[in-house]
Amino acid sequence: MTVKHTPTGIVHKGTKGGTTGCRINTKIRSKHWVASTEKVTCDKYGCRNEK
Ligand SMILES: [Zn+2]
Repeated sequence: MTVKHTPTGIVHKGTKGGTTGCRINTKIRSKHWVASTEKVTCDKYGCRNEK
C-alpha cells in the first residue's frame, strides 16, 4: 500500500490517514494525500529502504 503526496507527486510507503515510511503524518494537510497503488518514489529512509 502506498500513499501519494499530490503537490510533489512523490509516492510514499504507507496509507492515507496514517504515517508514511519516512515518518510524515498524512493527517496534516490530508487533502494533499491520496491512496495509491503506484510504486514508491520517495527515496527517504523508511520508504525506500526495506527492513
Ligand atoms: Zn517517504
